[in-house]
Amino acid sequence: MKLTQSLSRMQQTALKWRSEGIKIALVPTMGFLHEGHLSLMRHARRSVGRKGKVITSIYVNPTQFGPGEDYGRYPRDIRADKTRCREMGVDMLFLPDNASMYPSSSSGLPYSCFVKEKRLTSGMEGASRPTHFEGVTTVVAKLFLITQPHYSVFGAKDFQQARVIEKMTSDLNFPIQIIIAPTLREADGLAMSSRNKYLSKPERLQAPALWNAIQSARDSVKNANNGFIPVNQLRKKLIKQITQSADMEVDYIEFFDSETLVPVKKVSTTARMAVAARLGAVRLIDNASLDPASPY
Ligand code: AMP
Repeated sequence: MKLTQSLSRMQQTALKWRSEGIKIALVPTMGFLHEGHLSLMRHARRSVGRKGKVITSIYVNPTQFGPGEDYGRYPRDIRADKTRCREMGVDMLFLPDNASMYPSSSSGLPYSCFVKEKRLTSGMEGASRPTHFEGVTTVVAKLFLITQPHYSVFGAKDFQQARVIEKMTSDLNFPIQIIIAPTLREADGLAMSSRNKYLSKPERLQAPALWNAIQSARDSVKNANNGFIPVNQLRKKLIKQITQSADMEVDYIEFFDSETLVPVKKVSTTARMAVAARLGAVRLIDNASLDPASPY
């Protein structure tokens, strides 16, 4: 496995691979890798084949964290991450740093270019974290230009993020195919996440409440008269269920169309549900289609 921190070395390597007709797949991450990340690397390998190149980037991007969020204490373990990437057959591990991603110019002008998506970012995570998606689209656009991939893989765990990246890729004509991979879960249904490390033992036992709420929503729409339930009725029931079973403060529960992310008025199996809640110091998010037959 090759490894570099240098943006220009990464870009030159990728351009050389492309000139040789080699397919490239990028898996952008913030590290502290778990099975969910590794599954994205498997998708990446499948997309480019044995002769293609899989690049994983690890970069805790400061511009996607708001003031008071956990940028400083985001979990990091670069040694373990390197081992996992090597074991997964990653061809190149890209480890940029802040000084090279957001440099000041030689004349001292600070970094000042950002990418903004204006439609899919208004609700849910965008409403709760107003500066988050601009940081995400900016860093992903930069990673696309530096690593020159044919494919890039994102997790359905961050469904809104994946849709925003798809929209940016199509609106800005990046010649890249976005692959969305299913959410990997622990045995009790908790979506894997680097932040789960910060759950205390009692919190960890309560954390599956979000997945349980999604399951309840699926049951409710399946058993509903004529297949629909009013949003407010279902939301109220699920908030009650979550707060009675866990010491959680629900940030939002939304039901929406998977393509447009527009909220639905009546919930049926064609809708998608997303939920965010705070459990102690940890903010958890989860989402799924309300059609249990859907792949994610
Ligand atoms: P992160 O390192 O948390 O920024 O995540 C990097 C990528 O991994 C994103 O595309 C996430 O959606 C994806 N990811 C995170 N957790 C999971 C999971 N449990 N299952 C599948 N993909 C995931």
